[in-house]
Amino acid sequence: MLTVGPKGTNDILPGEIEKWHYIEKTVREICREYGYSEIRTPVFEHTELFLRGVGDTTDVVEKEMYTFEDKGKRSISLRPEQTAAVVRAYVEHKLYAQPQPFKVFYIGPMFRYANVQAGRYRQFHQFGVEVLGSKDPAVDAEVITMAMDFYGRLGLRGLELHINSVGCPKCRPVHRQRLHDFLNPNLHKLCGLCQSRFSRNPMRILDCKVGKCQELSKDAPTTTDCLCEECAADFEKVKKYLDDVGVQYVVNNRLVRGLDYYTNTAFEIMASDIGAQSSIGGGGRYDGLIEEVGGPPTPGIGFALGTERIIAAMERQGLEIPAERRSDVFIATLGEQAREEAFKLLYVFRRAGLSAEMDFMGRGLKAQMKYAHKFNSRYTLILGEEELAKGTAVVRDMIAGTQQDVSLGDLLAHLTIDINQ
Ligand code: AMP
Repeated sequence: MLTVGPKGTNDILPGEIEKWHYIEKTVREICREYGYSEIRTPVFEHTELFLRGVGDTTDVVEKEMYTFEDKGKRSISLRPEQTAAVVRAYVEHKLYAQPQPFKVFYIGPMFRYANVQAGRYRQFHQFGVEVLGSKDPAVDAEVITMAMDFYGRLGLRGLELHINSVGCPKCRPVHRQRLHDFLNPNLHKLCGLCQSRFSRNPMRILDCKVGKCQELSKDAPTTTDCLCEECAADFEKVKKYLDDVGVQYVVNNRLVRGLDYYTNTAFEIMASDIGAQSSIGGGGRYDGLIEEVGGPPTPGIGFALGTERIIAAMERQGLEIPAERRSDVFIATLGEQAREEAFKLLYVFRRAGLSAEMDFMGRGLKAQMKYAHKFNSRYTLILGEEELAKGTAVVRDMIAGTQQDVSLGDLLAHLTIDINQ
């Protein structure tokens, strides 16, 4: 047990972490361009926040939360997602008093006690954004466009964007009633879960994965059939904005988010080539959520994209991740005096902003050269007794394959100039 991590968790090792850095760099770039600032909230919150903010009838909260009592007898949960926490911070710090909309992004680990399989873990990571304070359909389109732009920048192709509108508290009861009328005669034929959803949350029957439920609800009234005038107009606008910037989508009337505070736009992005867990991101509008957790009535919308699934899709599509150079300079030494000189040089180089390494394993010169090569270092310096006596070092350019003697005092200038070329 001691030597195996908990089920559903992953170590991200050197060699793998470069992909994460690349994704995180792309996140920061795109968020700067779209005007989103970073927010960091704690990885644990009061359980109550998620009961309210995610919904106590959702699978995530009902079955998958890591909940425990702390030493002060408070019920605490590891965050299964971050929207609720962002909303909590927005209300707690009265961020609604600042110029709106409030636009933030986050990247970090989430925790769900899920059935572990490829693409489904218990600690996984999300990049997400939230926009609070605006009901403008242009914001919906911005958020969706940004998600698609992000995937595009990583080089991902062939993704499918599904969009839908689930309406507002005005049109929802109309849909609910029509759905009840439609499904009632066949209620006993639905799966057990859908039978219980019938009164609690009938909309969810539309996205049940069980064959007979899909069959029975095939021609059921969809949310878009029942939109009020305002919601229908907003949905048209979102689509128009997406068309205007050439973002392709499929309107999927079966895409629903069951809870009352989810309103209007819902979307999901699928990568068909990563296996059963094909959703690589999703999001939607939640105009009722801020009030639900105790804030002033405020519209909001966001998305969350799963990093592990993005990486899986990138690997499937054979996308190259730009390699990070591990080291600018490696100093190979011969003799104790040279080692002491090398140690000082490392400090000087590093303070000047170069990444520099030397041997710490007592290797011979030849083995050090081999190691430097493996390290992918740009330059290798060779320092032996002979060089020390002359006050020089041999500088080997690992790309050009050339080498020259450089006096110790000139090394930094020499390397800095070259590396910046
Ligand atoms: P959700 O918060 O459930 O809408 O999920 C948003 C995205 O997070 C999904 O599209 C997945 O890419 C990712 N995701 C959700 N749950 C998991 C999980 N257990 N393991 C890995 N990725 C996940």
